[in-house]
Amino acid sequence: MKKLKVGVLGATGMVGQRYIALLENHPWFEVTLVAASPRSAGKTYSEATKGRWQMTKAIPSNISNLIVKDANIVEDIVGKVDFVFSAVELEKELIRELELKYARNNVPVVSNCSAHRGTDDVPMLIPEINHSHLDIIPIQQEARNFKKGFVLVKPNCSLQSYILPMYALQEKGYKISKAIISTMQASSGAGYPGVPSLDLLDNVVPFIGGEEEKSENEPQKIFGKIENGKIINDTSIKISAHCNRVPVVDGHTACVSLEFEDKDNKPSIDEIKKIWKEFSSVPQELDLPSAPKNAITYNEEQNRPQPRKDRDNDKGMSVTVGRLRECKVFDIRFVGLSHNTIRGAAGGGILNAELLHAKGFL
Ligand code: NAP
Repeated sequence: MKKLKVGVLGATGMVGQRYIALLENHPWFEVTLVAASPRSAGKTYSEATKGRWQMTKAIPSNISNLIVKDANIVEDIVGKVDFVFSAVELEKELIRELELKYARNNVPVVSNCSAHRGTDDVPMLIPEINHSHLDIIPIQQEARNFKKGFVLVKPNCSLQSYILPMYALQEKGYKISKAIISTMQASSGAGYPGVPSLDLLDNVVPFIGGEEEKSENEPQKIFGKIENGKIINDTSIKISAHCNRVPVVDGHTACVSLEFEDKDNKPSIDEIKKIWKEFSSVPQELDLPSAPKNAITYNEEQNRPQPRKDRDNDKGMSVTVGRLRECKVFDIRFVGLSHNTIRGAAGGGILNAELLHAKGFL
């Protein structure tokens, strides 16, 4: 099969580097173009990332000598790639405009950025959950006069560790009405160089700008449905989030308490474990290249999950859950963990693109 040509916007950053590493030898996609800020433009990729390459393997040989383009000069990129992954760090309004410009110029955009997460004709996809939201793409294209292009986003990294376990229960008929969530988020979630080491080492920072709002609001869109050409949020679920930055390199952890809507029909602890262990969805059925075999891994050990030991489960794409027990205020509580730059960023973006390709959108 001929591979699709892929551009990575923001290729020099924390998420961009993860894309470069994960896409090496990908069976369907080949990175042929890298783009970043005007500061990096014109340099080779290895020059542009010198001293700040954060991956544990070397830069792939086919990438190191690519000349970095300026991601803002769309004209220089259209026609050269089949689609782009967007992982730029810029003001929201500028990202919003930039991504639409790519789409207008026939370049589909699979984005990690938050700029379009609130746009009601842009799907915010977790392929195991709201694959049906792909139906909004032709509506977006028609309304905005896009021919081949479109914008699709993935949600914030903070919610990956709890939204799949929540969805798995809802899918079996156990609707959740309330959730209280405390996250412990890794330093790589702040990009490079992120929080200064003297602010983070030996410390916990109990504030991450914008993160609590995203953790509370984005699940409502993911659980929403398409009506009259828009994605309408499911506001029946109320989430209260506390987001903390902790001195962990990779892997966001969340302590979660949930309340079920129907007091007379609550699942037992054993039933919940069974639901999570057996959970499987479209990416697994389609055998997408980046789909984890187990989207949810339940770890029975009493002191798990832990970031260093569990974040790489199923190549960093499985959400690891443990410590399921009854909650004395709500109904149940558990701990969830996901790799923030793999499942929560580049790996999640690649899984989105694989589903788009399998469904004929790319
Ligand atoms: P980062 O490490 O700061 O990287 C930012 C990237 O954006 C770099 O490639 C940088 O290029 C580029 N950039 C900066 N200014 C630019 C400009 N004026 N024009 C074009 N490109 C510009 O950030 P990150 O953590 O990779 O995050 C990238 C995006 O993904 C953000 O929108 C973030 O919110 C989102 N995200 C991050 C995570 C995570 O875990 N880190 C998870 C989910 C989503 P230079 O190297 O040339 O400066």
